[in-house]
Amino acid sequence: MTQQSKASNVLALYPEETREAAALLKQAVPLMVRHDIPPNPVHYALWYTYSQGLQPELNRRLDKAVTDFESFPPATAERLFRDFIIRGELEEARAGQVQAIELVDDIEGQVSHSLINSQAYQTSLDSGLAALNEPAIDDLPNVLNELQQSTQLMQQQQEQFLYHLRSAQDEIQHLRNQLERAHLAATLDSLTQIFNRHAFTRLLEQTLAAGHQGVALIILDIDHFKQFNDQYGHPLGDRVLQHVGQLLRDLLPPRAMAARYGGEEFCVILRDIDEDAAARAFAEQLRLKIQALRIKVRRTDQILDSITASFGVAMAEVGDNLESLLTRADDALYQAKRNGRNQVFLSARQDTLSA
Ligand code: GH3
Ligand code: MG
Ligand code: MG
Repeated sequence: MTQQSKASNVLALYPEETREAAALLKQAVPLMVRHDIPPNPVHYALWYTYSQGLQPELNRRLDKAVTDFESFPPATAERLFRDFIIRGELEEARAGQVQAIELVDDIEGQVSHSLINSQAYQTSLDSGLAALNEPAIDDLPNVLNELQQSTQLMQQQQEQFLYHLRSAQDEIQHLRNQLERAHLAATLDSLTQIFNRHAFTRLLEQTLAAGHQGVALIILDIDHFKQFNDQYGHPLGDRVLQHVGQLLRDLLPPRAMAARYGGEEFCVILRDIDEDAAARAFAEQLRLKIQALRIKVRRTDQILDSITASFGVAMAEVGDNLESLLTRADDALYQAKRNGRNQVFLSARQDTLSA
């Protein structure tokens, strides 16, 4: 018999295409797990062949071995391996290596395609393939053993990697939430949920520095609020502030910004205002809405309808900075208070005054 024909005989033991071979391995592994058979290459070969079902005598002996012995004896495994798998013939076993090479090759292809952390594993598979290509068959069990160990290692690495990835994702999400909360806390007023003074001054400064045209500043202050608190209590006063904050949020035109400047004072920055009258009209709208607020005293069911606010309005002019614009709006507010409260006062344009 020529070497070629012997090799063909052994190849005939493994007629499966790679995909079918992989399917047989998938059957073999659960059998090994069920019988508590240590996962080594000799055992893989035996149970692979068992799954093929082409050698009934081998299957009978394997069935007997797992019934007779509590743990599968290594000597039995070696004998069955020799008698049914390599049959003592080097050349035939060499042909079996070809099948193993194909299998490993296939696994390697899938691994390199789908696994992220496969560099070390791939190196190990490569050296396994190189070893399988060597003519010395004595090393076959060792080579397969190493491949199997590196596969296990890879699996562990992947599980660890995924675990770390998930933890990292959770950690990132947690940090993001924290940052968002911190950012909101830094810019929002906690009582009214509109911007705070810090955010307001920063935006107004930026807006003025950018030299935007048509910027108006409105400052509003609730009238006789100290008296309100004294009469109805601070918690109800807080509710009034919340209602005003809500009104501002609801009525704010596009590109405008509202903030609680402090206490019972609120500010609005309007943009794209063509003329002073438009800013004044918006302030007037707010005034009417505040005046229309109806707040129920929960304890007594009394409806309060006396909340009003005064408004100062100033248009930004060339050369204005935060302080100069705020001062003009504040002066206008003071005038509104002096004139009797619950009204809007528009600051006169500086250029008109000096003309
Ligand atoms: P005016 O019409 O002149 O504005 O009178 P006023 O009483 O509103 O003005 P004043 O500045 O004398 O009083 C402001 C009051 O606003 C004092 C304080 O009791 C009240 N206030 C400031 N911050 C808060 C707050 O967060 N919650 C409540 N409930 N009241 C506040
Ligand atoms: Mg005030
Ligand atoms: Mg007030």
